[in-house]
Amino acid sequence: MKLHEYQSKAIFANYGIPIPRGRVTENAAEARAIAEELGGRVVVKSQVLVGGRGKAGGIRLAKTAEEAETVAAQLLGMTIKGLAVRRVLVDEAANIETEIYLGITNDRAARKPVIMASAAGGVDIEEIARQSPEKIFKVHVDPLLGLREYQARDIAACIDIPREYWKSFIAITRGLWWAYCETDATLAEINPLVITANHQLIALDGKMVIDDNALFRRPAIASLRDVDEDTEAEVEARKHGLAYIQLEGQIGCMVNGAGLAMATMDMIKLQGGEPANFLDIGGGAGADKVAAAFRIILSDPKVRAVLINIFGGITRCDEVARGILMAMTDVKSTIPMVVRLAGTNAEEGRNLLRNAQMITAETLFEAAQKAVALVEGS
Ligand code: GDP
Ligand code: MN
Repeated sequence: MKLHEYQSKAIFANYGIPIPRGRVTENAAEARAIAEELGGRVVVKSQVLVGGRGKAGGIRLAKTAEEAETVAAQLLGMTIKGLAVRRVLVDEAANIETEIYLGITNDRAARKPVIMASAAGGVDIEEIARQSPEKIFKVHVDPLLGLREYQARDIAACIDIPREYWKSFIAITRGLWWAYCETDATLAEINPLVITANHQLIALDGKMVIDDNALFRRPAIASLRDVDEDTEAEVEARKHGLAYIQLEGQIGCMVNGAGLAMATMDMIKLQGGEPANFLDIGGGAGADKVAAAFRIILSDPKVRAVLINIFGGITRCDEVARGILMAMTDVKSTIPMVVRLAGTNAEEGRNLLRNAQMITAETLFEAAQKAVALVEGS
């Protein structure tokens, strides 16, 4: 789950990281009022869950409160990379001398968190990571020992932070580390962390991504979710405990088990097709869950065919079939479907589906072949 900049910075502040004074609002008149409180010179920042807002024109400086209102009104009417701007953050403007990048993420290959830092922070950091990776300094943190102070000092030295800022930089790095740990984040990033003209280190931007699988034990963080930013299908899937990710292709997939779902997607691709989604209905899914999954798949207008691949272990194939039939009575779709059922009660399941215009297949290979043929023929 991604957090907005204003949410991430509020968390950072709880860990002692200095952030600019400011507030979030949904209307331009209030943006003006906030700017007045802050003394006029502000930066008005679109709160959308995508990177590169600055380059997309979503971050604007305003010299007066009046200008802040005008700029906020413009931003609130914008969409950035397909997302409507519903809120803006109005922050006291900073006079930037240096832009630093500081981030923590999981390095799966190393099986450890990694802290990354660069003196070349700011909007071009992705470009720098690609063109001159040596400008980004990395330190792995042992998850059992936690961040050691010498490591933070090492980072400060390696990215040439002037001595007078070391104490503050080390405190910020430690704060970011704890914010990362205690929210179960998979990313905690400050870009830019700036040195201002009046000699302060401040986190001007903030980005956090929280591990979805940890949200059950972080209710306060879970409540920060912005459902406006999710598609209806994603909201629906979450409600039913389905793992659903929408993709670009035309073949909708309903599978039980993440591994089988991935294998199914691979098989579709091998046959020259493209999956429309990843969908894992999980183990032991009953008819209700199957029906919900079915509705979600068919709500995607790109879907030209559906491939259902169920291995009945704990999940019973006849339950799955009943779920599909139940969903078909209220969805009434003309999209062709290929079903492959294997395992517990597969025969009963197939019998139930026989009269429902569904094409069956014995193997996954055959099922994928048929689904791709249906898309090509339509
Ligand atoms: P992003 O483009 O989505 O990463 O948004 P940021 O919050 O990082 O803003 C992009 C850029 O806008 C920053 O790298 C800064 O160069 C600039 N910026 C943001 N806030 C301020 C500010 O208070 N003062 C000045 N001068 N520039 C700012
Ligand atoms: Mn940024």
